[in-house]
Amino acid sequence: MRLLLVEDNVPLADELLAGLQRQGYAVDWLADGRDAAYQGCSEPYDLIILDLGLPGLPGLEVLAQWRAAALAIPVLILTARDSWAERIEGLKAGADDYLSKPFHPEELYLRIQALLRRSHGHANQPTLQAAGLHLDEGRQCVLRDGAEIQLTAAEFRLLRYFMLHPEQILSKSHLAEHLYDGETERDSNVLEVHVNHLRRKLGRSVIETRRGQGYRFGAAPA
Ligand code: CA
Repeated sequence: MRLLLVEDNVPLADELLAGLQRQGYAVDWLADGRDAAYQGCSEPYDLIILDLGLPGLPGLEVLAQWRAAALAIPVLILTARDSWAERIEGLKAGADDYLSKPFHPEELYLRIQALLRRSHGHANQPTLQAAGLHLDEGRQCVLRDGAEIQLTAAEFRLLRYFMLHPEQILSKSHLAEHLYDGETERDSNVLEVHVNHLRRKLGRSVIETRRGQGYRFGAAPA
């Protein structure tokens, strides 16, 4: 999953970037509200974390512009401590969730996981489940019939994307856009290698190849 982090406090942004990357997210970082207003609409993000106090353009304005442009992806706002007025204005402007500073990174991670499940129609699940698999996002492993299957960081990122989009045909370029940040070179051969590793661990039929179209997860009988 690819996230946009909009935060002008550099030490906090650095800490969040590192933490989110450890959680297996591809993250682009911006500090300026004007840049965020533009880039949020032009890149295919899965979720946006938006600070409200920003140079260039206030976060509330940025959010209002995104929603006016029909950008429907989940937005979690970061608000000043105890500012109920900011939280209310943010929710009115179309935020899906908020966190008040200071917060524990773990709370941010759990809220992101829940928002992503909810926005992909998995709202009823306390953990991500699809095709008989349970993904443990905290420990980055997968469970099937109670047995734990270990994953590399790259396999975990790819499997999470597949499990949030079961039975959809996903092209390699689409997958690359959502698994790598804007700075990383995208190599579809690497994706193919990870798909094959996942098949070796989970069974060939878990990921189907659609020639000329891409991959489809969780469609064929196991
Ligand atoms: Ca700020």
